[in-house]
Amino acid sequence: MSVVILSDVHANIQALRAVLDDVAKVAPSAPIWHCGDVVGYGASPNEVIAELQRVGATGVMGNHDLAALGDEIVESFNEGAYAAAMWTREVLTAPSREWLRALPRVLEMGSATLVHASLRDPIMEYVADAATAEESLRGLNTPLLFHGHTHIPAIWELRGEVAHLTAVSEDPIALHGLSLVNAGSVGQPRDRDPRAAWLLWERDEESAGLGRVTWRRVEYDIPSAQEAIDAAGLPDSLASRLAVGR
Ligand code: ZN
Repeated sequence: MSVVILSDVHANIQALRAVLDDVAKVAPSAPIWHCGDVVGYGASPNEVIAELQRVGATGVMGNHDLAALGDEIVESFNEGAYAAAMWTREVLTAPSREWLRALPRVLEMGSATLVHASLRDPIMEYVADAATAEESLRGLNTPLLFHGHTHIPAIWELRGEVAHLTAVSEDPIALHGLSLVNAGSVGQPRDRDPRAAWLLWERDEESAGLGRVTWRRVEYDIPSAQEAIDAAGLPDSLASRLAVGR
């Protein structure tokens, strides 16, 4: 059975619609999971939440979702992220807020755990080095963890006692053991590829449920997403970075 994993949509409805079109072609009946940061940065938070509700997405809370709900975590944000969080607080509808507030911080789904950031700190910790990856890998109750937060696709795999970073491409990658799999970002990629990223996980029930993962990259209407950010009065930097993917 396949599963679609989306992360860091960041209120980018143009990117999400393009991704869901691709999902409809590649994995039309697969359940959709998300790793949080549904809102923040982008100009269409209510539209993105409605779309995720429509496709029955199941997922977890990100730092930007928490900030949009009024949490003081916003005080640690940089200028652009802060401005977007304050704007999002103003425009979120009551049903959108309710949907966001119901997101758990950690979700175990069979052989996989979902968090936004890391297992140790599901909201805020960036997994960007081996020592941090090892902390999360050793604490897992499941063989796999899917996450986001860095906006960069990655696999950290525990071999012996050491976390190794596996090179990621658009080819399917077989998972061999305890792994953290970062789905990348739908709505604000930061790996210098501006195309929206999503992850297909093809489970293999015979090998402890590990299976293989494939990153898909999808072109979308970046100018429309940028115009929406400008029209909302959000910082220009949030629009311009979409074109360069960083
Ligand atoms: Zn994010």
